[in-house]
Amino acid sequence: MRCIFCKIVAGKTAGDILYQDETITAFRDIRPQAPTHILIVPNDHITSMKQLCEIGDCLLARMISTAHQLAETAGIADRGYRLVVNTGPEAGQIIEHMHLHLLGGKPMRLEGMAQRFKDDMK
Ligand code: AMP
Ligand code: ZN
Repeated sequence: MRCIFCKIVAGKTAGDILYQDETITAFRDIRPQAPTHILIVPNDHITSMKQLCEIGDCLLARMISTAHQLAETAGIADRGYRLVVNTGPEAGQIIEHMHLHLLGGKPMRLEGMAQRFKDDMK
C-alpha cells in the first residue's frame, strides 16, 4: 500500500480522523490553509472525479453531506465554507486519492481562486 490516504484510512499511518464509516473517512489536513481544513475521502482508492462519477452519484453525495455535517460540528456551517476538489495535474492535485477539501473558519479573500485562473488566461 503506497498511497498515504489509503494508509490513513486503514489506520496504518497516523491521521487526525474526525469521522469514518464503511465508505468515507474524514481527517484534518496536515498543512491547513484555513482554521478548519478537513479532507473527506472515499475509503477505496479512487483516483479522480472521473472514476468517482463512473461509480455513481451516491458516494459523492455522501461525501458532500458528510462535509456539511462536519461543518456543522465545527460551528462554521452558517458562516459559510468552501468545498474544493482538485482533480488532475492542471488543477494541482497532488495526492492521487480523490478528496474533498472542506475549508472555512474565517472570511475568504474571494478574488483568490478566480484570480489564479484569470492571470493565466492571457
Ligand atoms: P491536493 O492538492 O488537492 O491533492 O491536496 C492534497 C492535500 O493533502 C494537501 O492539502 C496536503 O496538505 C494534504 N496532505 C498530504 N499528506 C497528508 C497527510 N499525511 N495527512 C493529512 N493531509 C495530508
Ligand atoms: Zn489511496
